[in-house]
Amino acid sequence: MNILVLNCGSSSLKFQIIDTDLEKIEKNEDRELARGLIERIGSEALISLKVEGKSTIKTTAAIRDHKAAIQYIIKWVTSPDTGIPGINSLEDIHAIGHRTVHGGEEFKSSVRIDNDVIAKMEDNIELAPLHNPANLKGIYAAREVFGPSVPQVAIFDTAFHSTMPETAYLYAIPYQYYRRYKIRKYGFHGTSHRYIAYRYRVLTGKTKNDTNIITLHLGNGSSACAIKHGKSIDTSMGFTPLEGLMMGTRCGDIDPTIIDFLHHKEGSSIDEIFNMLNKRSGLLGISGLTNDMRDLEVEITEHQDRRAQLAIDMFCARIVKYVGAYLTAMNGADAICFSAGIGENAPDVRAKVCEHLEFLGVKLDKKLNNKMIRGKEGVISTPDSKLQVFVIPTNEELVIARDTCRVVLNAPLP
Ligand code: ADP
Repeated sequence: MNILVLNCGSSSLKFQIIDTDLEKIEKNEDRELARGLIERIGSEALISLKVEGKSTIKTTAAIRDHKAAIQYIIKWVTSPDTGIPGINSLEDIHAIGHRTVHGGEEFKSSVRIDNDVIAKMEDNIELAPLHNPANLKGIYAAREVFGPSVPQVAIFDTAFHSTMPETAYLYAIPYQYYRRYKIRKYGFHGTSHRYIAYRYRVLTGKTKNDTNIITLHLGNGSSACAIKHGKSIDTSMGFTPLEGLMMGTRCGDIDPTIIDFLHHKEGSSIDEIFNMLNKRSGLLGISGLTNDMRDLEVEITEHQDRRAQLAIDMFCARIVKYVGAYLTAMNGADAICFSAGIGENAPDVRAKVCEHLEFLGVKLDKKLNNKMIRGKEGVISTPDSKLQVFVIPTNEELVIARDTCRVVLNAPLP
């Protein structure tokens, strides 16, 4: 079954085409046939496309909207010169899986998209005003291009965290705000945390019930997740992705009073303050230079930049704090798993985090840690480490493709 995986932003579209079915899932034989990214939709778009066995093509084209973007991809992958052998027309795409950000309390697992699902996603727009409209754009566009008979499935970033207990997801504000407006912790990156837990089971042979780990998705957006008996029992992002760890440009946890204080001191509007907390804080805000971990590392080695160092130290300290809190909340865990851009590629960050955890018996194998970069997967702790430490490159697209396949075939979801 060829599945088109779509991740639509307001002016971007990331996609993969993955060939999978129930047997391939079982044998881990799913195949990525193509991937790509179209940015700046609505003007002269920047396009990057890679078809299996061919080199990446970078080009530009006038792309008016998400529908035109999908049509562009289909034309590319079905063309005899540039395309995928065996995919000759629209009919060779059998289903579409959408990365959807906010499922609210309604969606606890992946679902086939129908009018009712769309209506509920529209109801959730006020919970995710930036993301859900973009996801819906992708759903409408795919419907127009493929027609109503090609099944579309929504895979929600929040779904994996729907197992959190009330004690973790409620905020200590008057309960009526939860009842009235559903103000609570939802958590995000769920598809990634779920994939990391799945790979941990594959690597260790453990059962779901025996999966007691802390997963760290450290990218431009970062979050930690406490996974007990295979289920999310707490996660660092909250009502929105702003809460929790320090991130590339997001502040993570702060005292909410700062907002009121700044509003009075600087006369900034609430919108301006939230823009600052989302886009000008985190690694960028502290270093005053960049939100990119690679560039911060260069600033430290080449210019001994103090604030670049401070930004990284704060980033690591916040992770340590969450790991400590989750270890207690979970009554201990068996492993810590690093993932995403920074988690997969920055051994120094991993080393700094693990150094703080030495008193718990965490011991890193320095050689393994330095080697485990650029997509490599495996253990980076020593055999006598009390907690194992893993690097597990995330693959949200694979989870989306597999869930799409299962939903379309009415197979049980894991
Ligand atoms: P997102 O999906 O949240 O945008 P990614 O998971 O792609 O983010 O991670 C992007 C971040 O990963 C970059 O901003 C950069 O800080 C970090 N990163 C990528 N490669 C490296 C590297 N080699 N060393 C250190 N950090 C890296």
